[in-house]
Amino acid sequence: MPRMIALVGIGKIARDQHIPSIAASDGWDLAATVSRSGGVEGVETHETIEALLSARPDIGVISLTMPPGPRFAAAKAALEAGRHVMLEKPPGASFAECQTLERMARDRGLTLFASWHTRHAARVGAARDWLAGKRLRRLTVTWCEDVRKWHPGQDWIWEPGGLGVFDTGINALSVVTEILHEDIHVAASELEVPGNRQTPITARLAFHHPGGAEVTAFMSWRHEGGEVWDIEAETDAGTLLLSEGATMLSLDGGPVPAQGDDPGEYARLYAHFAVLLDKGESDVDLRPFCHVVDALSLGRRRSVADFHEQG
Ligand code: NAP
Repeated sequence: MPRMIALVGIGKIARDQHIPSIAASDGWDLAATVSRSGGVEGVETHETIEALLSARPDIGVISLTMPPGPRFAAAKAALEAGRHVMLEKPPGASFAECQTLERMARDRGLTLFASWHTRHAARVGAARDWLAGKRLRRLTVTWCEDVRKWHPGQDWIWEPGGLGVFDTGINALSVVTEILHEDIHVAASELEVPGNRQTPITARLAFHHPGGAEVTAFMSWRHEGGEVWDIEAETDAGTLLLSEGATMLSLDGGPVPAQGDDPGEYARLYAHFAVLLDKGESDVDLRPFCHVVDALSLGRRRSVADFHEQG
């Protein structure tokens, strides 16, 4: 029997990924949505999460696909109503609210999944396995894209809690924290913030690595002409390149083809969520968010030209 799930916030990522992934899976049934703008054709829609929770006690699982700002209130309401919850990334607008949700889920014996979709990209597991037992010398993240292409009309990314370029860069950090076998932390950060905005458009980070490796990241939303989503690692036993958002892997300069078909990040994400529910476990790894919060805290800010979506 497929498991009933409700989606809350039917915007870009719900339409691009969540709805098709749920529809393609035998394990899930999109039983309802919460949407202020119409929801999904053919699926029951509620205007508020409170309305959904009281009308449909039979839907045990809620996936929250709205921006991080309003996510805490919705997650809290769902957990208080005894529902299991999946959070899109980033897991919240502040670190402490994520810890509160984690505690609430634990106290109630509910599953909370703070998802990191890029972690489920095809070559992340192979990269982690290859790095095991090797001595890291250098790791360089280059995560650059055109904000006008990827976030059209999304003013929330420029507001407090919207994270700016870290909304994207946190995807890279979710992969770095997965493939490295050592804990790192942000040591220095430089941020460029458009004069008319609250959040950065570029970020340059340097990390402390326990073995002394040089670990850096450059993230930009001002990159036109095709995205660069690369993570390069140099070790005592060769080099690794994860490219195209961790869907491609090269070792020592040679591509390593994947075996079999790639079902895609979100298919794996929902499969992982199903396993968590079966086992009665949560998955709340806040390290990528911690690095972003630290980068914002340590960041040396430079005000740069205003950003306007048109022009
Ligand atoms: P979005 O299209 O701007 O917004 C998603 C939907 O959330 C809106 O269409 C709206 O749905 C609802 N919503 C917006 N503001 C709300 C508010 N104040 N209160 C309640 N509901 C609100 O954003 P998105 O691009 O889908 O991103 C949503 C989340 O997914 C973000 O955390 C983002 O980082 C993550 N994500 C985005 C992408 C991407 O490519 N855009 C990729 C991966 C992950 P209704 O009109 O139905 O109420």
